[in-house]
Amino acid sequence: MNKDEKQFSTDRRNFMKTFAMGSAAGFLGLAGNKVNATPYEPAAYAKAMAPVKIKSVKAIATRPGGSNLIVVKVETTEPGLYGLGCATYTQRAFAVVTAIEKYMNEFCVGRDVDNIEDMWQAFYVSSYWRNGPVLNNALSGLDEALWDIKGKRAGMPVYQLLGGKCRFAVPLYAHASGRSIDDVVANVKRYQDQGFKFIRIQLGGYGGVGTVPKTPDFKAAGFGGETDNFMDEYAYLTGVPKMFEAVRKACGEEIELLHDIHERNQPMDVINMCKKLEQYRPFFIEDPLSPENTHWWKQLRESTTVPFAMGELFNNINEFVEPMVNHYFDFIRIHISQIGGITPAMKVARLGEWFNVRTAWHGPGDVSPVGHAANLHIDLAVWNFGVQEGAYHFGEKEQAVFPGCPTFKDGYAYVNEVPGLGVDINEKEAAKYPINNQAPGWTVRKYDGTIIRP
Ligand code: MG
Repeated sequence: MNKDEKQFSTDRRNFMKTFAMGSAAGFLGLAGNKVNATPYEPAAYAKAMAPVKIKSVKAIATRPGGSNLIVVKVETTEPGLYGLGCATYTQRAFAVVTAIEKYMNEFCVGRDVDNIEDMWQAFYVSSYWRNGPVLNNALSGLDEALWDIKGKRAGMPVYQLLGGKCRFAVPLYAHASGRSIDDVVANVKRYQDQGFKFIRIQLGGYGGVGTVPKTPDFKAAGFGGETDNFMDEYAYLTGVPKMFEAVRKACGEEIELLHDIHERNQPMDVINMCKKLEQYRPFFIEDPLSPENTHWWKQLRESTTVPFAMGELFNNINEFVEPMVNHYFDFIRIHISQIGGITPAMKVARLGEWFNVRTAWHGPGDVSPVGHAANLHIDLAVWNFGVQEGAYHFGEKEQAVFPGCPTFKDGYAYVNEVPGLGVDINEKEAAKYPINNQAPGWTVRKYDGTIIRP
C-alpha cells in the first residue's frame, strides 16, 4: 500500500466509523464543506405536496339531463381531498361502471395520487388487452380525477398545471340544425345573435336523416327494427351544398361554418361533395371517412382544399400519428374520455403543434360537466387550439348534480376558476337520476335495409 492508498484507507475507516455513529454533522465535517446542518425545513408550498394515497375509486352514474353520465370519484387519505373525472360512455354505461368498481378500485387503492403518468401507463397495460372504449373511459375517469386532485393540492386550476392560459376564454361552436334549409338559416341567425362566431350546420340528423318524407323500401318490406333510421344518400349529397349556399347568402361571410358528415358516405361521394363546398369556405368538414376507410385519406386530401376534422372514433393516440405527419387533416376531434383522459389528449395536442393541426375536442351532450371542464382546461392551455364544440347550456338538474359547471357567454366558455377542474358533484342529487339502457340508437339503413356505419 503506498502513501496515498494508506491515507484513503484511513479516511474510509474514519468515514465508516462516523457514519455508524449516525452523526450527520460528522459526515458533513469529513466532506469538508461548510454546510449548515440545520434540518431541512420545506417551504410552505412544498409541504402541500406531501405524499397522499388513494383510499378508494368509485363510479357515480347519473342522468340529470337525459344522457347516461359516468363520473369517477377518487378519494384519498387526505381528509376531504378527492378528485372527479369523466368516464362517460353513454351507450355502454353499465360496462364502464363494472370496470371501475370491479377492477380499477382494487388496482388503485394505496397508490400515490401524484404519479399520474405512471398510474395511466400501469392501468393501461394492466388488462394486457387494451384500446377498447370501456376501459379507456374508465381510465379517463381516473386520469382526470388525478389531475383534479393535483390542481387542488397545488391550489391551481388544471389549466395552470398545463402551462397557463393562451386565451382569455374558449370560443365554442353551436349546432344549428333544421328539417328544412329555412329552419337551418333561422337557427344560425339565432346563434349569431347569441354571439357565436362558429356554427355547425346540419340538415336533419346526421346524413340528412329525418328530412326525406317517403317511406323507404326496407320499412315497407318489414325489414329491420321499427325505430331504425333511413338515410337517403342522394338527398344528403345534393342537399348539403344547397344548405351551405343558402346560409352563406343569408348569414354573411364572417360566420365560420362547420359540417359533420359523420362517416356515413362512400369516399368518392365525399370527395365530390367536398369539392362543391370549397366555394363556401367551410371552417372544417368533420368525419369525412369511417375508421374502416382511413386508407382513402391520401386521395381525399389531394382532391379537395376543404379543411378536415377527424378522430372522435379513434381509440388510441397512435392513430393520430400517420394522418398528422402526412397532413391529412387539420383539426383533432378527440373525445377525451374515449382516448383515456387529459394525459393522452395533451400528447396529441402537443404533437399537433408540430404539424399545424389544431384541437377541436368532441363536446356533445353525453359528456359530463366534469368532462366538458377537462376539454376547456386543455383548450385554455394549448397554443394550437382551434375551436370547442358545445353550447354549455346546463339545465337546473345538471347544475344541482354538478356544482361549478362551466359557464357560457357571447360564444365563449369559461371554467370555474378554483383549484382543480372546478366541477364538484352532489351525490344525493346524482342518485335521483339513475342511468338506464335507453342510449341513442345508431342504426341507420339504406333503401334496401343495408346498415350504414355511423
Ligand atoms: Mg362528429
